[in-house]
Amino acid sequence: MIPDVLERMELREALPGISEQQAVLTVRKAMGAELRGYSAFPPSQEAREIDSSVAAEARCGRCGAVGLAFAGFTLWADFTRDDGWASYRAFAVCPVCHDIQEF
Ligand SMILES: [Zn+2]
Repeated sequence: MIPDVLERMELREALPGISEQQAVLTVRKAMGAELRGYSAFPPSQEAREIDSSVAAEARCGRCGAVGLAFAGFTLWADFTRDDGWASYRAFAVCPVCHDIQEF
């Protein structure tokens, strides 16, 4: 049990991680005009915590790597209010093959 867990931890550490900022740049490049007007962050700290943990446990559909980076984009109707967002799009970016999945 314990050696198995340790092996998996080593595997995870060996993966080349990418930061949220790098993930944002990757998604912006790939989506182009579709994200025009969006801010490159989620609508709240709560959304960031939930969605980055979802991405961190997700598996890449293309290469099978586990532990994807999160990138959130928010389109604001009224940015002076926490709930003033019109559209929120969350993406998971693979640190290995840079495949992008929207979730
Ligand atoms: Zn991948």
